[in-house]
Amino acid sequence: MRVLVVEDETALAEAICAILRREGYAADMANDGKTGLDKAMSGKFDCMILDIMLPVMNGLDVLSYLRVMQNEIPVLLLTARSEIDDRIKGLDCGADDYLTKPFATGELLARVRAMTRRLGIAPDINPKFGDITLDLKKGELICQTSSVVLGRKEFRMMELLISSSGNIVTKESFAEKIWSGEDDSANNNIEVYISFLRKKLQMLHSHVQIKTRRGIGYCLEVTQ
Ligand code: CA
Repeated sequence: MRVLVVEDETALAEAICAILRREGYAADMANDGKTGLDKAMSGKFDCMILDIMLPVMNGLDVLSYLRVMQNEIPVLLLTARSEIDDRIKGLDCGADDYLTKPFATGELLARVRAMTRRLGIAPDINPKFGDITLDLKKGELICQTSSVVLGRKEFRMMELLISSSGNIVTKESFAEKIWSGEDDSANNNIEVYISFLRKKLQMLHSHVQIKTRRGIGYCLEVTQ
């Protein structure tokens, strides 16, 4: 799995590449839009993380050009918080997903995994926390020799919880990432799905528990 990182903030680009490499991806970077476009057109990469604000050629122009040239490389756009319009334009231009800066490492990896999974090119890197592993291909939660199948929303919630490595995932974050575009009953649904996940963790006799941080959200914790 080869990932192209197009980002002009060199320190950030290098940090993203280092994170990806640690997870078993091959990563290369370009520091301006034109170089990024040339590398993307080379066909050597499986997916691309593309910043919008770039020198020489901005990210949206790079993306539009790729799609006009019928290059369908999966693209995860990086946007600043103030660039909401650009985010919409980006999705219109054919981006597969976007991530708002600043972002957590786990979130970046979850997005890259989700993007590559949709395209059937996901590497065999299953996220783990404590004694549990999330099987990305089978959609199962595994503990020791037992496993349970997760529903689609349960799966996405568990993926977010594991990728935040014990830190809190806010209710807003669940609502935005899993219930976006759906009705406003997300908040009640979140609690229901958390209770489903707790039951499944118990069924697996896992030491991992989902803790409630009242009024904020949920996090994973290993208990003995
Ligand atoms: Ca930039």
